[in-house]
Amino acid sequence: MPEEHAKLSASGSNRWINCPGSIVLERSFEEKESEYAEEGRLAHSVAELKLTKYFKKGIGPKKFKSAMDEFKKSPYWNKSMDDYTDDYFEFVKEKALSYPDRPFVDVELRVDYSNIAPEGFGTCDCIMLHGEELSIIDLKYGTGVKVDAKDNSQLMLYALGAYNMFSIIYGIKTIHLSIVQPRLGHFDTHTIGIDELLAFGERIKPIALEAFNDSDKLAVGDHCGFCKAKSKCRTRAEAMFKPIEDHILPIMNGEPGNLLTSEEIGELLTKIEGVADWIKKLDAEALAEALAGNTVTGYKLVEGRSNRKITDEALAVSKLVSAGYEEPLLYERKLLSMTNLEKLVGKKDFASILDGVIEKPPGKPTLVKASDKRKEYVLNDAKSMFNNLDKEKEN
Ligand code: SF4
Repeated sequence: MPEEHAKLSASGSNRWINCPGSIVLERSFEEKESEYAEEGRLAHSVAELKLTKYFKKGIGPKKFKSAMDEFKKSPYWNKSMDDYTDDYFEFVKEKALSYPDRPFVDVELRVDYSNIAPEGFGTCDCIMLHGEELSIIDLKYGTGVKVDAKDNSQLMLYALGAYNMFSIIYGIKTIHLSIVQPRLGHFDTHTIGIDELLAFGERIKPIALEAFNDSDKLAVGDHCGFCKAKSKCRTRAEAMFKPIEDHILPIMNGEPGNLLTSEEIGELLTKIEGVADWIKKLDAEALAEALAGNTVTGYKLVEGRSNRKITDEALAVSKLVSAGYEEPLLYERKLLSMTNLEKLVGKKDFASILDGVIEKPPGKPTLVKASDKRKEYVLNDAKSMFNNLDKEKEN
């Protein structure tokens, strides 16, 4: 059954709060299914089963095993998924055990925040209530972007929905918002008071109404990265070129012949951040248009490079053996990648079995924005690393 989504979804809230007009623009784009989404859905189902078995009645060992056996038939299943969903389960269990008595816990609970955003609803992975405390716990199975709990509008909308549902029974005063991103080892909780939560709701109410009523107000920002219209949005395209006009051209036209200073390079990079990625996406969009039979001015479709391939491997091997080549020489023996080995063996066994034979060398110095949370590289280390890299190249 296709999943039901609210027009003002909690998961898309950071986008529509910052750019109410994106609701209209996204409408022209189809929902694209990806392997990652399928994998995430399976992980959520496994996690739901584990929490339901522990916190709710009705799932005995037999039922649990048969449900797990079904999940294991999926092409997206692997042993690591079992371990990572265990990490999520342990996080929730530990939180529950931190209370002197059993809290109320529900999983995959639909909550309604339509008093804030018209027709708004969403599904909470896990909610927990005890005394004056409400916890919203969200499992993120992806690894692409590390998600923080602080200022997380998705979690706050869920919390507002849960508040609507339970505030009659529980005198909720404190809200713990948690993101569990087990594959990144990221377990993040941010706590707010009820006044802050309700004030957030009041603040976004008019924006939600605007977005719901098909606003044409567009605003570019980091939230564009999660917008379906990001490659074709005119406002974003214009925003991409504005810094070039405002900052790059004046610098280029300023003192011809001079080299850019490191200050200017830093300034330029900050201003044109995202342009390279945007061009890549634009390229993909143009290809999709051309493949759909539309003319992309100045471009045409051609046949790309292709590589030779063996059409019948068994026959090829038999021919080579008949020609006198020993069969073992025809195959390459290669260990699976770390990721695939971990999927095969599972996260816990992977660490214990391969203890002592895995090392994580220091990463190459990488330039990131000054606001990045990672510790700054010590310059001497960076210099010696570059020297080592140069030596490696020479050898
Ligand atoms: S790309 Fe950015 S500016 Fe354009 S609609 Fe999407 S969120 Fe709004």
